[in-house]
Amino acid sequence: MGPKINTIWKQMEIEILANFICLQENRLKLYKGFGEKTQQSIIETIEFYLNNKGSFLYAQIEVVEPQVTTYLKKLFGEDKVHITGGFVRQLEYLDELEYVIALNNEEIKPKFISASPPELLEDTTDSLLYKLLNGLRLRLYTGTNSWQKRLFTSKCSAEFETAFEQAYPNVDYTNAAINEKTLFTNANIAYIPPYARETAEVITLAKKGNLPAVIIPTDIRGIIHSHSNWSDGSNTIEEMANAAQEKGLEYLVISDHSKSAFYAQGLSEEKIKAQHQYIDELNAKNPNFKIFKSIECDILNDGSLDYTNSILSTFDLVITSVHSNLKMTEEKAMLRLLNAIENPYTTILGHMTGRLLLSRKGYPVNHTKIIDACAANKVVIELNAHPSRLDIDWRHIAYALEKNVLISINPDAHTIEGFDDTRYGVLVAQKL
Ligand SMILES: [Zn+2]
Ligand SMILES: [Zn+2]
Repeated sequence: MGPKINTIWKQMEIEILANFICLQENRLKLYKGFGEKTQQSIIETIEFYLNNKGSFLYAQIEVVEPQVTTYLKKLFGEDKVHITGGFVRQLEYLDELEYVIALNNEEIKPKFISASPPELLEDTTDSLLYKLLNGLRLRLYTGTNSWQKRLFTSKCSAEFETAFEQAYPNVDYTNAAINEKTLFTNANIAYIPPYARETAEVITLAKKGNLPAVIIPTDIRGIIHSHSNWSDGSNTIEEMANAAQEKGLEYLVISDHSKSAFYAQGLSEEKIKAQHQYIDELNAKNPNFKIFKSIECDILNDGSLDYTNSILSTFDLVITSVHSNLKMTEEKAMLRLLNAIENPYTTILGHMTGRLLLSRKGYPVNHTKIIDACAANKVVIELNAHPSRLDIDWRHIAYALEKNVLISINPDAHTIEGFDDTRYGVLVAQKL
């Protein structure tokens, strides 16, 4: 971030905080246009912002993690530094980047002082918390005793850790840093990777040898949910198809925005006809790759879709999503979504809650009821793989699978580069 932008950002932040104080004191009500409802909504947005300040998306951490790891290893030695925590558990966003460092605090602290030292926020007997210049907090678990056990437990959720220790109180952690798998071999159960160490239930499954098969990025055979330059995407459909084929994929689902999404150049009925003709031509030219005709159809305020049935019937599949009037009660959100799910033309329900991780909470929904309705209407649920969406939340996928609802991992790509976001969806899907 350049100094100028930095200053602007700082000023903005001060302004946001000033407004926040104003709102808390109900002072904005004095101004025209700021009713109580608006105030409440602004307060909630700011609270959400402040609560998430200092948190980073997995995709953002992934970019800086190699540099931080290399830096720490250079300072403290290759064998002393071990990455752990939420990053290795593939959590969708993180408050801290965590490491186990097999040294004492007094051996660690002086080494940081050399070049532009990070700010020390906490100093306890077995951990240090630093803040890097970019705001990212660095948690170091320290100490030379039982650090291997710490390395294991810091890769588990609290629930998993308790359940594992209760089930296997005598596990020997001596080799946890070299080969974690021996821990599970000694416990006589299948290996549970860090990303799956969430619930106690997974230990029961591992005991029975019933761990579910894990999806990997190469299992993805095509791109579903993508936007071309016919709406708000950057590339032509031909460029996107060629790029997908070069990646070894077999198909591409083009789902530009529908007509109500005027801000995103949503497609009129005439444009849909023209696009379908163009896709037919491209498919005829290249029989080794298939482009499917789709649309990301807006779910309107009353839950109806954005085109007549005769238009909807011309698509190979229809993705339905909410893009307007996102501030809704659960009752209203459920009405819209359930109506859309019951529409016989809906194939996939797109980004279910409209959340944007760390910046927008998303409207409240009853996940169980939505999943039940998708099961009853044979509607597929999207796992929107954009790193700031990851919506449906992975915590609800197990129930969806139990109900035999298909989950479609979709990049919602607006550029060719956006295809690669599919991987973030796969990473959270592995966490079941
Ligand atoms: Zn969308
Ligand atoms: Zn989209």
